[in-house]
Amino acid sequence: MKIILLGAPGAGKGTQAEKISKKFGIPTISTGFIIRNAIANETEVGKVAKGYIDKGQLVPDEVVTNILMERISNEDCKDGFILDGYPRTIAQGESLDDNNIKIDYVIDLVVPDEVILGRLTGRRECSKCGRTYHIVDNKPSVEGICDACGGELICRKDDNPETIKNRLEVYHSQTEPLEKFYTDKGLLCKVIGQDSVDGTYAEVLKVLEA
Ligand SMILES: [Zn+2]
Repeated sequence: MKIILLGAPGAGKGTQAEKISKKFGIPTISTGFIIRNAIANETEVGKVAKGYIDKGQLVPDEVVTNILMERISNEDCKDGFILDGYPRTIAQGESLDDNNIKIDYVIDLVVPDEVILGRLTGRRECSKCGRTYHIVDNKPSVEGICDACGGELICRKDDNPETIKNRLEVYHSQTEPLEKFYTDKGLLCKVIGQDSVDGTYAEVLKVLEA
């Protein structure tokens, strides 16, 4: 099963991806996390990406697409995968088609901008495995420590209000057109974000188990 999770930054894609991943036994691929890792490790790709991300801009399509294609060629993706944060542009969506990647479901998590602004400032991410938490809604058992791997939880550099507003604008102008792109393919399933992670997940399951 190959799934795309669409939705604004902070719509809860990462948390939902993690739950879907566990239930269906397929990996989550977050191009954003792969890129942030590359930046932390100061790889060539990381250096290129850093300049864009610091300004709240998107990393160029061809860079992200190459990273993704390399990742999904791994053995653990043979039964499918969940894409979190890709595609972000129509061009990236077309790249999936060009590479013969047949998507089964596109789940569009719908959350208003105001709600997202409140959420993102409380978000924390594991510096080792990328699992996401929230200081109010989704706390780790021990403050500042990842439940899954014991890694340190950090506030992402791009999770401050100014950058978030930029990212939302970029989302509306560059990513939202994918809703029509996938509606036209008959793949788009809108899921209205609920107050709780589990509430949203129940809605997601209705789509995947229909
Ligand atoms: Zn972790």
